[in-house]
Amino acid sequence: MTTTTETRLPTRPDGVTDAKLFIDGEWVEAVSGERTPVIDPSRESQISSIALAGPEDVARAVAAARREVDEGAWSRVSGADRGRMLWRLADLIEEHREELAALESVDIGRPIGEPFFGEIPLASEVFRYFAGYADKIHGTTFDLPDLGGKSRRTYTLRQPLGVVGAITPWNAPTMITAWKLAPALAAGNTIVLKSAQEASLSTVRLVQLIEEAGFPAGTVNLVTGRGSVAGEALVTAPGVDKISFTGSPEVGRGIAAKASGALKKIVLELGGKSPQIIRADADLDEIISTVGTGVFANQGQTCASGSRIFVQRDVLDALVDRLAAHADSIRVGDPFDEATQMGTLINERQLKSVSALVEQGREYGVDVVTGGERLGDRGYFFKPTVLVSDNDSPVARQEIFGPVGTVIPFDTDEEALRLANDTEYGLTSVLWTNDSSAINRFTKGLKAGSVWVNAWGPPHPATPWLGVKTSGIGEELGTSGLLAETVEKVVNVVG
Ligand code: NAD
Repeated sequence: MTTTTETRLPTRPDGVTDAKLFIDGEWVEAVSGERTPVIDPSRESQISSIALAGPEDVARAVAAARREVDEGAWSRVSGADRGRMLWRLADLIEEHREELAALESVDIGRPIGEPFFGEIPLASEVFRYFAGYADKIHGTTFDLPDLGGKSRRTYTLRQPLGVVGAITPWNAPTMITAWKLAPALAAGNTIVLKSAQEASLSTVRLVQLIEEAGFPAGTVNLVTGRGSVAGEALVTAPGVDKISFTGSPEVGRGIAAKASGALKKIVLELGGKSPQIIRADADLDEIISTVGTGVFANQGQTCASGSRIFVQRDVLDALVDRLAAHADSIRVGDPFDEATQMGTLINERQLKSVSALVEQGREYGVDVVTGGERLGDRGYFFKPTVLVSDNDSPVARQEIFGPVGTVIPFDTDEEALRLANDTEYGLTSVLWTNDSSAINRFTKGLKAGSVWVNAWGPPHPATPWLGVKTSGIGEELGTSGLLAETVEKVVNVVG
């Protein structure tokens, strides 16, 4: 990201205090005492450690959240006061923007400008947006006939669901935590949050700010640690009413089976392999930088990454040349260097996974136009990569979650729509054209939770965020995301 203002970007934190669990208003070690190191992926060196919660810690956190929502101080907080706390939290996030951005950058290796200018202000905006909703959640009244000669008043109460178990991924931890917590808290629920083992540092700081904002003890609890232990304990814990999960389809499937088996509500926000469709009428020079951002932002580790780039054949060579030049111009390096535009993948496992998928593409016969390999030998850097392929290759079918764009040619709009929809995923999609009839056709026909026309970016908190097909079940954000954090109870008063 280029910085055009005088703003000084945050510097690399010297060291980060070892993180504990936050249960019932106290920062505590896991009962087992177990911890795991936190590695700075750009230097492959330890910067901190996090506690590894076990089933006992999760059970304590759930019990605190249960008490608070059923009969604790939080259950008596008015909507207006919930709104004030959420607003105060939004202020605190703004005040601590530098610190939060630096923690996220050092934890996951993304260039500091991305969280500083993007994700952290967005997280604050999400809390501010839902703060305004907290005292505006209400039921409906009905004009129904008398019952057995007696008058009848029927209405609904919109109440909190109860305890929400929130499980977050490592790729955009602060913003995704905000997506889950803000609507759930506005609606009066309590939270047990399980952050990703790979990246919990900014979440720990965010929870400290939640404590400072004045939420009663037990309202928000944090259990860091392994998915297979702490995550699984949360999914199966009695006393949790809803599981709100963002992560991979593979893990999501297992969670859906277990949580649904226990008759918990679920929302699953999963992976993507989103299309960017570039028609021949688009101005390639004007759009190329945003097309590139859609592929390469956060090292391509973005669920909404527009990594399948369908290009009308007339402009195929022109687009490939521009995209390759764009990729080659990206400065990859130290996330805290202001000139850096791309940082490092999260860890060695991700580096191996991205490298292996590109290799499978090579074996399939895709054209590697640029990149396609690790950069340097310290830090998990991968070269921005552009491939040309058909829609059946492994690099066109599987979510790579790395800085890899796969260009796929098409001839007609009908073919582009068919190819774009020929995927198991349906998270988002982008259309680049100035033709209004094409815009109408594609926006109607694309099977995805959202469509961008002539732009790419994160969702605004006012709009629902969802995936179709393998990309998810249920909605977050917007009014529908808020209502999904409530239960509507019907009351009949007769007499
Ligand atoms: P992941 O599925 O490996 O992990 C996500 C979370 O689930 C982590 O906190 C992990 O510890 C936990 N977990 C793992 N196993 C578990 C289990 N058995 N029970 C309960 N919890 C468990 O995903 P990831 O690698 O952290 O994130 C990358 C994936 O997330 C990609 O597929 C990406 O597209 C997706 N994602 C989706 C969205 C969206 O909004 N749709 C946003 C960001 C990321």
